Amino acid sequence: MNVKELDKAYIAPTYNRFPVEIVSGKGSVVKDETGKEYIDMGSGIGVTSFGIADDTWQQAICDQIGKVQHMSNLYYTAPCAELAQMLCEKTGLKKVFFSNSGAEANECAIKAARKYAADKKGKDCFTVVTLENSFHGRTLTTLAATGQKHYHELFTPLTPGFAHIAPEDTAALSALDAKTTAAVMIECIQGEGGVVPLSQDFVKAVADWCKENDVLLIVDEVQTGNGRTGELYAYQNYGVTPDIVSTAKGLAGGLPLGATLLGEKTEAVFGFGDHGSTFGGNPVCCAAACSILRRIDRGLLDEVKAKSKYLFDRFTGAEGVESVSGLGLMIGIKTKKPASDVVKTCMEQGVLCLTAKDKVRLLPALNIPTEVLEKAADIICAACKEENA
Ligand SMILES: *Cc1c(COP(=O)(O)O)cnc(C)c1O
Repeated sequence: MNVKELDKAYIAPTYNRFPVEIVSGKGSVVKDETGKEYIDMGSGIGVTSFGIADDTWQQAICDQIGKVQHMSNLYYTAPCAELAQMLCEKTGLKKVFFSNSGAEANECAIKAARKYAADKKGKDCFTVVTLENSFHGRTLTTLAATGQKHYHELFTPLTPGFAHIAPEDTAALSALDAKTTAAVMIECIQGEGGVVPLSQDFVKAVADWCKENDVLLIVDEVQTGNGRTGELYAYQNYGVTPDIVSTAKGLAGGLPLGATLLGEKTEAVFGFGDHGSTFGGNPVCCAAACSILRRIDRGLLDEVKAKSKYLFDRFTGAEGVESVSGLGLMIGIKTKKPASDVVKTCMEQGVLCLTAKDKVRLLPALNIPTEVLEKAADIICAACKEENA
């Protein structure tokens, strides 16, 4: 059997894969089993921050694998301590808990919020309020947090203690009961929800309401984090200070790593044995993440902003394009044709794109070379035009 047949025979069919096997790559270009090359405008859903098989990233991993690949959290290892220091110094948050995925990073954020609220405001204060159209993960608790009913349907009963309000609905925000609300959790830009940025006013209103009522503000930076929006974390574009930040996807550049950053209110909330993870803080993943974070400096972030402006300018008002949304290199293009048709044409023409709801979604590597980005934009623009329908 070839790979596609093996996959169909033995892998649970939860993914509707494109009929392409990716065998290798370098930077923002990947190659399939026939040798055909593609520009990668999805980077593994915002994971391969510096592209495929990046040299600096590879070296950091190989160096660490040659020393120790895993020791469990019963012993000290340098990479996770160094990474935690970097994350705290760059954000002002105080402590980090490491896990392996976005869902786990959110799970930890929710546990921290519940414990803080129970300790401070009593056992009836546990509700975590999230936004409609949000996405926070696939575990039963993070599904409950996810404000999209269609993800819930097959898996009820979900974890209780969640409520949802509409994005931008400041009246619903003010009507929340602070006595029973432990936290409000937001994505500054709803990624899976269709690359929908929240307004400055709404994010500010959420942050203010949380502060006034001693309710924790959790920002889910799983997709928006680690340089994606032109700042290290998306909340930094909004001038707010979260109490808890969760991140994953691009953090380790392609190895599995989640992190939950705890601010002043929650830094002491967990004690020995209150939470844990076998693989969380794995030294190879953390060494990879250190190599990524060291490179996300002001210069790189400004490049992300410049490339973002280029893409916005290219697609805004282009033939077949209705609107462009997003921030930094997290971009949604509402096309007149169905987004899946545009993505299919792009793939035939050698560009890999994602969709998010009814939009074409672009999440290229942060360091995609300008000429590669321009070539991809040419192909995507052509694919949006009506005559290709
Ligand atoms: C992808 C994503 C998650 C889930 O991350 P996993 O690593 O798949 O568990 C959570 N929140 C947001 C905003 C995401 O984009």
